[in-house]
Amino acid sequence: MSRVAVVGGGLTGLAAAYRLQGLGLEPLVLEAGSAFGGKVQTECTDGLVLEEGPDSFLVRKPEVVQLVRELGLEAELVPLKPGGSGSAIYARGRLHPIPPGLMLGLPTEVWPIVRSGLLSPTGKLRAAGDFVLPRDQGEGDQPLGQLVARRLGGEVLDRLVAPLLTGIYAGDPWSMSTQATFPQLLELARTDGSLVLGARRLRRKAPKPSGPPGPMFMTMRRGLAQIVDALVAALPQGSLRPASPVTDLALTRGGYRLTLGDGAQIDAEGVILTLPAPAAGHLLRDLAPQVAANLFAVPYASLAVTQMAYRQGDVPELKGSGFLVDRAAGLTITACTYVVNKWPHESPGSVLLRCYLGRAGDDPLGTDDEGILAAVRADLRTVLGIRGEPWLERVYRWPAGMPQYTVGHVARTEETFGLLKELPGLALAGAAYRGVGMPDVVRQANQAAEAVAATLSQTDAEEESPRTT
Ligand SMILES: Cc1cc2nc3c(=O)[nH]c(=O)nc-3n(C[C@H](O)[C@H](O)[C@H](O)COP(=O)(O)OP(=O)(O)OC[C@H]3O[C@@H](n4cnc5c(N)ncnc54)[C@H](O)[C@@H]3O)c2cc1C
Repeated sequence: MSRVAVVGGGLTGLAAAYRLQGLGLEPLVLEAGSAFGGKVQTECTDGLVLEEGPDSFLVRKPEVVQLVRELGLEAELVPLKPGGSGSAIYARGRLHPIPPGLMLGLPTEVWPIVRSGLLSPTGKLRAAGDFVLPRDQGEGDQPLGQLVARRLGGEVLDRLVAPLLTGIYAGDPWSMSTQATFPQLLELARTDGSLVLGARRLRRKAPKPSGPPGPMFMTMRRGLAQIVDALVAALPQGSLRPASPVTDLALTRGGYRLTLGDGAQIDAEGVILTLPAPAAGHLLRDLAPQVAANLFAVPYASLAVTQMAYRQGDVPELKGSGFLVDRAAGLTITACTYVVNKWPHESPGSVLLRCYLGRAGDDPLGTDDEGILAAVRADLRTVLGIRGEPWLERVYRWPAGMPQYTVGHVARTEETFGLLKELPGLALAGAAYRGVGMPDVVRQANQAAEAVAATLSQTDAEEESPRTT
């Protein structure tokens, strides 16, 4: 049985190891930290389920749901509470419900935008420019902010698209790649000209669901760490090595030699690197210098997540799922999720609010925990009018937590994956490449495992076939 070293024991690494095992290979997960799961961590305390990193996953991309089913955890899936969707944007001193009919982050209906107080009269007039401006001629990628501001003006960008982009990628619209985030917009700007009319056309063309729409997001009854625990339990004990940072990677005649922090060496026929891009680049700096250069070029944003549990009487009625924040509003937080409305099982009897801090170019981690919590409490008082103090509060820090897909990301990733073909049996997977969400990283993990398995079975077949020369 071929041994495949999986470097990094986050969701990507564990999912890759699980898939390798299913393909008849012998995975060995080498994780630098003392525990597995990477960013997928849940703290269960005082009757609360506190998600430290991700809090749910998209259902439309099926990979996590499939994995959960394979792990026998289907009964533990919790759908987004009906009525728990619908967010708002905090801008110009108050909350504005996000106008209905958004597609690709853009409005597809005119009246909800005209009626909304989100844009000023001048901003609305400027947005109408989208209907008359000529089609884009240019080919290739461009910053999402540049495209949206050119067609719809700065207000649509700042008050609608940028907060949404921050909510998903913690990204700066002036450097984020359109091709990597909303690729259809590049096409619409060339074919339809108007992004709004083009997005509306796509929305009308989209197949209508046959039954009632299912939930858009799901989570797990006792937190997303349940998936991590189940993956760990499904892998043989000996295939999981915590506290094993990989510091060097070299080629051998039969595959690869990995060196650990304590100097120990491990040989493997295949390797899957699921580390943050710069850490993977460090391991590949001698074996594939151009790949390493591309990996070092992926910037990261640092984030903090806070969880605050309030007594019910202290919080006014909350409508919808939460709010995103216009940068010009001057708040510290970038978004707030009303956990109590989306996932009520996570805080029975309390009002749990989860806030996010940090985005590209704006690192929140220089402040100590008490400073972060004080700023979040003040923001929640300003936006929601909360009177009391939380009875429990937490800060979770994610230095270099979110890779940034900057202009040219898709082309650089294609080049990286093309160059990797020179290193048979070695694959890359994770949030830095082809999607940051949990379903995206599980998909990449599956693909990496399958690619490594295919290479190793080809090598075995070549070694076994009789020589003709
Ligand atoms: C605050 C936050 C909120 C998020 N919210 C959502 C959400 O709601 N929904 C969603 O779908 N996604 C969300 N995401 C994204 C998602 O959590 C991540 O993309 C995903 O968990 C990444 O998993 P990973 O295994 O690729 O990376 P990681 O979780 O970063 O794991 C990489 C692992 O590699 C290890 N490592 C590093 N260097 C070495 C080394 N030299 N040797 C060995 N091991 C090493 C690390 O210790 C780590 O355990 C969120 C991310 C963050 C930060």
